[in-house]
Amino acid sequence: MDIHSIIQTVFASGKLSSYIRDFEYREIQEQMAHAITQSWYDLRHIVIEAGTGTGKTIGYLLPASLFALYEDVKVAIVTETKALQQQLIHKDLPVVASLLHELTDSSLKYALCLGSNNYPCVRRLQHAIDTGSFDKKFAGDMDTLHARVKKDYTITRFDVTVPDALWNTICREGQLCSMNKCRYRNKCSYMEARKQWQQAHILVMNHYLFFSNIAASKSLVPDCSVVVFDEAHSLERIASAQLGFSINNQALKETLEHMIQRKKGPSLIEQWLHHSLYQDAIEVIDNALRQNQQCRSILTNVMKELQTFRLRNPLQECLPLLKALEEVIAVLEKVEAEKLDEDNRLEYEYLKSVLLHTCNDLGMVVFMDDDSYVYWLEKDKNDHGIVLICGQPLDVASIIHKEVVEYYDHLAFVSATLSVNNTFEYFIQSIGLSNVDSIMLPSPFDFASQSVLFIDKDNVDPNEEAFIHAAAEKIKEIITMTKGRCLVLFTSYAMLVKIYEKLCDTMPYTIFSQHNMNAATALQEYIACDNAVLFGTHSFWQGVDLPGDLARAVIIMKLPFEAPENPVVQAKIEKIQKEGGNPFMMYQVPNAVLLLKQGFGRLIRKSTDKGIIAILDSRIVSKSYGRIFLGSLPNSKRVYSLEELHNAYKELYR
Ligand code: SF4
Repeated sequence: MDIHSIIQTVFASGKLSSYIRDFEYREIQEQMAHAITQSWYDLRHIVIEAGTGTGKTIGYLLPASLFALYEDVKVAIVTETKALQQQLIHKDLPVVASLLHELTDSSLKYALCLGSNNYPCVRRLQHAIDTGSFDKKFAGDMDTLHARVKKDYTITRFDVTVPDALWNTICREGQLCSMNKCRYRNKCSYMEARKQWQQAHILVMNHYLFFSNIAASKSLVPDCSVVVFDEAHSLERIASAQLGFSINNQALKETLEHMIQRKKGPSLIEQWLHHSLYQDAIEVIDNALRQNQQCRSILTNVMKELQTFRLRNPLQECLPLLKALEEVIAVLEKVEAEKLDEDNRLEYEYLKSVLLHTCNDLGMVVFMDDDSYVYWLEKDKNDHGIVLICGQPLDVASIIHKEVVEYYDHLAFVSATLSVNNTFEYFIQSIGLSNVDSIMLPSPFDFASQSVLFIDKDNVDPNEEAFIHAAAEKIKEIITMTKGRCLVLFTSYAMLVKIYEKLCDTMPYTIFSQHNMNAATALQEYIACDNAVLFGTHSFWQGVDLPGDLARAVIIMKLPFEAPENPVVQAKIEKIQKEGGNPFMMYQVPNAVLLLKQGFGRLIRKSTDKGIIAILDSRIVSKSYGRIFLGSLPNSKRVYSLEELHNAYKELYR
């Protein structure tokens, strides 16, 4: 039997319903599985937009698993969220494996690939304990961790609860790992995981690891010839971030200090260098520390109240730091590494490579002779005192084209939101795709009877000051109408805070907001509290799953255009202008449309869900580009006044 026939048999046999509770046969799911198979046999890639509720996961896992088994190839399934990876490993892949075993007597093997610093390194752990080189306030955590690692050779970061600061000192670091030469290799969870990766037909990983693997010349995970990207709408953003760099002065300070600090015995540099060279080395490293501090003060002064600052000219103020770091590397070159013991040699090679990378990245910003990059300064989100020096390639599409599209034999890109105004043109161009088929599979949900779309067409322009007051009033009315259970999506913290302050004491519903707690906590508290309201910014527009009664309304404050002051957005706009294009229509609008579709998708998660989508930004009808947004949304019943909304909302539940 060929793959098409097996897919047909799987769906015709009705066996999926014995594995998946409430499974309903959907023709589009089978159509998707056949379309992927056909494109791959035709040696073409495929883009699939599969609306919420199409059962897209089984739709791609089935052909991917069959292809792996029948064509004897390794397949990577690449997703953005941890939740989806867990679902694939613990729920969907076991179903597909059992089903294929029953129908074809095959034995599908699959494994989860995590970034290597999610595995503990027994060598580093033992070294830290033996030398006492860890913060003593973590002594209790260290004992617990040591006991767990000794007992179980398969644990990962997600199986233990220890502070990040401790984990970072004992996790696997690529440069510090001697792999098969390591004396702890038989007790190592990373080495154990790699064995499973080698044997697996299917590897599940996230977008970050996939692109880190590309940045590391495809050395981190076993080579695959087929890749399915789920949540593919995030691909370009994540690729850009992973292929770029950021320099952190605090981390650099710690690296330099680590080489000269004496803990229980001599410092690293004393162990590495002959004593005749040692004093010189200390002076060179001290100078680098001084230059690093100087650079940090200059950057802090430049940033003051700013969050980000686009660098348009070479950052020559950091040239003394670059020269000082080059001197440190020159000193390190004098180390006779082959004479060091294994632990010392690995640590030496690791620290040298960190400094080499930092020099390389810093050199790009100091000289700015590569204009295919955009450079900027940014306050570290976790530590506002730290200013990061960042760079990112601008033309990610050509990198993805070379490293992904041309490299892998078969690709599938799947998401609920890839098309803009019924075409995939924007997505295809943004990642440099060619030789590609595409298919749009509509959601099986009946949006016309399950949802009502309120467009506040008479609202003031969202850029006017009066918008805040007007929007707050509308939000209050909608929350009162639905008796809470509303998700309000903002495009900026500033607006979120203003509306929160206007509403928090005026309603009998608790508002959980991302400005005063982290996103995960806000979501948990919202779910646990009856009739609550949730205010969120960027991370809430996608990936948040609020089925059933958890969301009776999703309120969208503004069309989600990316902030024009964002350096990457600015640089992309300038690039399109330089090439003679219209950045607004070619980049800003399609990008915002995809995010709006994601926001819209938070409301209806099941065929029984009902609710309101409210768009308070009148530009969706007053501006000509608004029709592109409206043309990309599902066909909910549309209303234009609160009175109509009231009636339509009652109708929904009749
Ligand atoms: S093989 Fe690598 S990760 Fe594992 S214990 Fe040895 S050095 Fe650490």
